[in-house]
Amino acid sequence: MSSEKTPISLGSNFIRAIVEHDLADKKYATKKWAGSPGDSKHQALGQLDPAKIRTRFPPEPNGYLHIGHAKSIFLNFGLARDYAGVCHLRFDDTNPEKESQEYVDSILDAVQWLGFNWQTIESNGGVESNLYFASNYFDFMYRAAESLIENGHAYVDSQTADEMRETRGTLTEPGKNSPWRNRTVAENLQLFHEMRDGKHADGSLILRAKIDMASSNINLRDPAIYRVRRAHHHNTGNTWCIYPMYTFAHPIEDALEQITHSICTLEFEDQRPFYDWLLERLAEAGLLAHPLPKQYEFARLNLTYVVLSKRKLIDLVEQKHVSGWDDPRLPTLAGARRRGYVAEGFKLFTDRIGISKADSWIEYTILEDCMREVLNDAAERRIAVLDPIKLVIDNYELDKVEDCFAPNHPLKPELGKRVVPLTRELWIEAEDFMEMPSKGFFRLTPDGMVRLRYGYVVKCTRVEKDTVGNVTVVHCDYLPDTKSGTPGADAIKVKGNIHWVSAQHAYAAEIRLYDRLFKEAYPGSGDRDYLNDLNPYSVKTITAQLEPNLKDAKPEDRFQFERHGYFVADKKDSIDGKPVFNRTVTLRDAWQK
Ligand code: ATP
Ligand code: MG
Repeated sequence: MSSEKTPISLGSNFIRAIVEHDLADKKYATKKWAGSPGDSKHQALGQLDPAKIRTRFPPEPNGYLHIGHAKSIFLNFGLARDYAGVCHLRFDDTNPEKESQEYVDSILDAVQWLGFNWQTIESNGGVESNLYFASNYFDFMYRAAESLIENGHAYVDSQTADEMRETRGTLTEPGKNSPWRNRTVAENLQLFHEMRDGKHADGSLILRAKIDMASSNINLRDPAIYRVRRAHHHNTGNTWCIYPMYTFAHPIEDALEQITHSICTLEFEDQRPFYDWLLERLAEAGLLAHPLPKQYEFARLNLTYVVLSKRKLIDLVEQKHVSGWDDPRLPTLAGARRRGYVAEGFKLFTDRIGISKADSWIEYTILEDCMREVLNDAAERRIAVLDPIKLVIDNYELDKVEDCFAPNHPLKPELGKRVVPLTRELWIEAEDFMEMPSKGFFRLTPDGMVRLRYGYVVKCTRVEKDTVGNVTVVHCDYLPDTKSGTPGADAIKVKGNIHWVSAQHAYAAEIRLYDRLFKEAYPGSGDRDYLNDLNPYSVKTITAQLEPNLKDAKPEDRFQFERHGYFVADKKDSIDGKPVFNRTVTLRDAWQK
């Protein structure tokens, strides 16, 4: 490490330490980078500023992004932001059958929602766009494969998939060389060209790197690098009938984009030797130049009570266990957004859980607490009665409407107060009246007194019940001198304080009370099918009585409904003047026993 250290030190994870070390070493400022790969589509790549660190977020567009991806996005885009570098958004679209434009669009949306952008403004005012598609490098990848063949580093294998599996060996036994391993360069080139030209059936031939069938690392036992697959590609259409394997494509993508720190999850650790092997061979052949990108691994996010596997998420959507990719119960970012989770909450969460090299599980409550923390600060307060019964103030004038004043935010007086109308008939929570009060119950009881929040003290006089004995109406008298905010307010001390809305003014709204999608912390652990762990009570739809101004809430407006939790106006099902609300999170954790 050079003596001259960069002054920045923005956090303590091991990846930041590596980046700071590399910057201090001026690792990228002085050396020459690979030029443009030649293809016109790659021209922009030849002009990248070599003095910067470059990271990338490389989703495959085969599903929607989830909370685990948020960790990777904050890490990669966060490094670029904090160290004056650049983060590329790159679609790793080398596997056409499972990919689609819908997924591409949803990923662009989610990255922006989290507050990041692939466009950086240059000091000269220009805009550098760093949105890439791996499929735009297919020409180069094809050329790279040819070059491996030419230099004796790759061969076309005619073994079947089963034969290849049988000869691969195990962790304790070496593999066996393929009988086709010693084909001549000319024969390999010809066969590879024929693969490209559609002369061979899907799966009949495969191009493999020629490394070492006895390697202790199974990933180096002649890994497959190109396969025949007749599939329509969302970007390249029917141009290709051969496609590169992910492990071959990914290092090349990184190198062409001059990525400095290629950060991935731990399961790729054993792939790193192949990553380095491949780039070294292509550099030797003059197709790439040093310094080559380096791969670093970190532990993926595992979160209790959800599944973060694209395959399982696809199953949940396709088998209609949820209403779609943006179902507010799903751990997709589209779902989290509809649920009312906020980008700043994800930022807080990723900061709090940190980056490490050891796999672990994170408690879902940590994520919920982060959302609560952000929403407590950000969300204005409103009143909602979720399980309404009537309260009639018998000694209150029939048609009178009186203004009461409720603060919009207890911690932010500058947000002022709003008017809530008080009338003779109100909605209150059923649970705020108890005929036989339990110990410590200070709300309404027969003959008891309570304060109507921001209003008067009332005294219960009698109740009405339905045929099965449920209380339907509570009758009260109010004490006219006790209005909140007036000198008489403190004359009568009461222990309880309940919320209410005027029955005449209330907005009766549809509310979805969401809960966890899975009832088990580790869905599908042991031999259980994860689908058996779905929580049958993960959503309950009710009609609630809300304070009247909530009628004007716009999609994605967020509120704390006092005593109940944080709610958001649904971005999809709300209509103008008739918003529908989703419960984002309760005020306190109800899952801890
Ligand atoms: P699959 O490869 O099965 O399709 P994936 O979840 O790995 O699914 P990718 O699109 O390959 O999806 O992921 C894009 C990036 O997000 C990768 O760099 C990957 O390492 C990272 N990523 C995916 N899941 C997690 C997770 N749970 N925690 C942290 N990072 C993740
Ligand atoms: Mg992946």
